Amino acid sequence: MEPVIITVATTGGGTTREQTPYLPLTPDEIADEIYASWQAGAAVAHVHVRDPQGRRSSDIEYFRRVVRLVQERCDIILNLTTSGPLDDERILPVTDLRPEMASFDAGSTNLNDWVFINSPAFLERLAREMLDNGVKPEIEVFETGFINNALALVKKGLLRPPLHFQFVLGAPGAAPATPKNLLHLVESIPSGSTWSVIGVGRSQLPMAAMAIVMGGHVRVGMEDNVYLRKGVLAESNADFVRQIVELAGSLQRPIATVGDARRILGLGTSARAII
Ligand code: ZN
Repeated sequence: MEPVIITVATTGGGTTREQTPYLPLTPDEIADEIYASWQAGAAVAHVHVRDPQGRRSSDIEYFRRVVRLVQERCDIILNLTTSGPLDDERILPVTDLRPEMASFDAGSTNLNDWVFINSPAFLERLAREMLDNGVKPEIEVFETGFINNALALVKKGLLRPPLHFQFVLGAPGAAPATPKNLLHLVESIPSGSTWSVIGVGRSQLPMAAMAIVMGGHVRVGMEDNVYLRKGVLAESNADFVRQIVELAGSLQRPIATVGDARRILGLGTSARAII
């Protein structure tokens, strides 16, 4: 089995300071948390940014500052979000910053009280931009139909295997985080693909445990969950990373270095400088 790649998602677009006072919001805070998570064993950082009021933002200058501060200190793989309300803005992290990876939400779904819309036209456009800019898509899958959407884009030549999937389970409005659902998703992707899992909220740790045993990879962080254990908030995203390192150690699965992760994901051999 390959070493397990830990992705840290420090901030997200929806988590609030009311939920946890430890949430990093400014570019400097986000970069500090990414660096601490890299020191703890994370090989990939999934990045969202916020405005000074803490609201979800697509401002490319905030992304640029996070990227610069991180790249000054470590070579962690950067995976920038392409989520957000406006399609023209969502695409900018890919076209303007050309990170090694970016999220690619391969369909639409209800999430809490909003609808996360990823129209077929937008997905074609995003896939084309990722291909043209050499950005590896992290194909986020909330339901099995999303896999078919991705495979249709493979047929059109817009997504190129080997594909990397990120299963999102336990989000309110989408597929529940059950072992059966995870197994079904893993069995539904093309052979040769890599996969990782996000368990939202209390399902973060059990889904991570399944991925470690099954040969998948793991995402943790305050984008998805704020509790380290029942009633105990994580004081840093690095706490979640350490929890996975410990769990994987108990199960005797090694942790991927950044170099391992680049090889497993088919990326380049070193960080791509973004300034
Ligand atoms: Zn995200």
